Amino acid sequence: MNPAAPEKAPARKPALSEKAGRFTESVIREMTRLAQRYGAVNLAQGFPDFPAPAEIKQAAQEAIARDINQYAITWGAKPLRDAIAEKIARTQGVAIDPEREITVCCGSTEAMMSAMMAVINPGDEVVIFEPFYENYGPDAILSGAAPRFVKLQPPGSATGDEWTFDRDELAAAFGPRTKAIILNTPNNPTGKVFRRDELEFIRDLCVRWGVFAITDEIYEHILYDGAQHISMAAIEGMRDLTITINGMSKTYSVTGWRVGWAIAAPEITAAIRKVHDFLTVGAAAPLQQAGAVALRLPESYYAKLAADYLVRRDRILAILEPAGFRCFKPRGAYYVMTDISGFVPRCGTDDVSFARYLVENIGVAVVPGSSFYNDPRDGSQQVRFTFCKTEQTLASAEERLAKLRV
Ligand code: PLP
Repeated sequence: MNPAAPEKAPARKPALSEKAGRFTESVIREMTRLAQRYGAVNLAQGFPDFPAPAEIKQAAQEAIARDINQYAITWGAKPLRDAIAEKIARTQGVAIDPEREITVCCGSTEAMMSAMMAVINPGDEVVIFEPFYENYGPDAILSGAAPRFVKLQPPGSATGDEWTFDRDELAAAFGPRTKAIILNTPNNPTGKVFRRDELEFIRDLCVRWGVFAITDEIYEHILYDGAQHISMAAIEGMRDLTITINGMSKTYSVTGWRVGWAIAAPEITAAIRKVHDFLTVGAAAPLQQAGAVALRLPESYYAKLAADYLVRRDRILAILEPAGFRCFKPRGAYYVMTDISGFVPRCGTDDVSFARYLVENIGVAVVPGSSFYNDPRDGSQQVRFTFCKTEQTLASAEERLAKLRV
């Protein structure tokens, strides 16, 4: 027998992971690929198309030139951890120990996954507000958690101009099996910024049931109309029950750097650090050095960031509303959820066919609303636009979307 000859086909193929079969590829990142294929303006994925701040690019270049090119300490280079601790003390009044309470990860995406894998046991339930950032679904599946979804109701006559949740519905989602609630504020995709009284209501449930709050705060500096970001860790009684997830991507316009972190009490951090170490070892060492420079930028940097985003937010609303979209005005983050029922059935029958129509015929890529809901029917009349884009990009989208009016 020729030893190089292929053997017979196996009697049966090895099975793939059951977990991996339970979720689809990211719709958001798929829309970016479609945008490239059709030459569409990409208002789907939330990455800025304008430059990152010069001083932090310089810091990254210098770090590479200084040969900071080997593994950093697995849970994060000390200068970055020190800067993270200083910043959360400065902005939220929360004192943390950079030696025992921070894990620097490959983006807040990895920080969320590491945090969930560090606290979840099979059968644990995790409360998630929906619509939700699409990663939380697969995060729950991969960590073995059973998600319990609680609706955020869109602004309307009964709810004023804010997305709100029903307090009884939230309370009913908590129970003896609840391990954590995932809270994203400012929120993607709704733009909701959770108020102090809402956070305190959630705190009371967390304390009553012994539940962690895992809070994704990566849009903390992108706020409008006087909205204020309050970290759950700053709410009395929540410091040691909160795992705060944050990162450089949105605040410093460096989504490709992949630097994020998790902040949690020492015992929780010890578990997160172990998971993180064996998942990725560490985030890019020279970019962590640049992170230490970024987090020490003066207050004026954050004021300008928010002011520039306010201009973009008002610009996108002035594009979308005349084009026929009913907009849910965001108070934070850089997305607008819109109601598309005015275009059905002329431009499609639901969010997915409408998004296809937009990318193929109009030349604008958006994210179908269903990708933010557990039951796709709940998002079938919504699509999400991002506006972290230059005036040139937004103007080009305006020109194309005007074609929808005919
Ligand atoms: N969390 C939310 C709510 C997001 O919207 C995004 C990106 O869009 C991320 C996390 C990803 O962050 P990172 O680039 O730090 O992994």
